[in-house]
Amino acid sequence: MKCPICGGQLKKMVEKSDVKGFEVPTEFYRCESCEEELMTEDQFRKGMDKIIELKSEVLVSSVDGDYIKLPKELAKRLKGKSIELIPGEDRIVVIPK
Ligand SMILES: [Zn+2]
Repeated sequence: MKCPICGGQLKKMVEKSDVKGFEVPTEFYRCESCEEELMTEDQFRKGMDKIIELKSEVLVSSVDGDYIKLPKELAKRLKGKSIELIPGEDRIVVIPK
């Protein structure tokens, strides 16, 4: 892909951005010459999906082992995916891989 501004080479980047206090890994393209940043529709949708998932409330019914009960909607979205749980000071962030 080429940069729409200067025609330079676009490089795929993944950086964590802060969304409502959550660190969400966001994929986008950055131009190597003029540093213009842009997202494709797909990247934008993926980012939004992550935010929706992160906003869901997670009910921990048992932490006795490796079992955590997830709300139905979240479980549906995450079905078949592995997730990363990142414990923060006052929250646990769920990152689908
Ligand atoms: Zn450019």
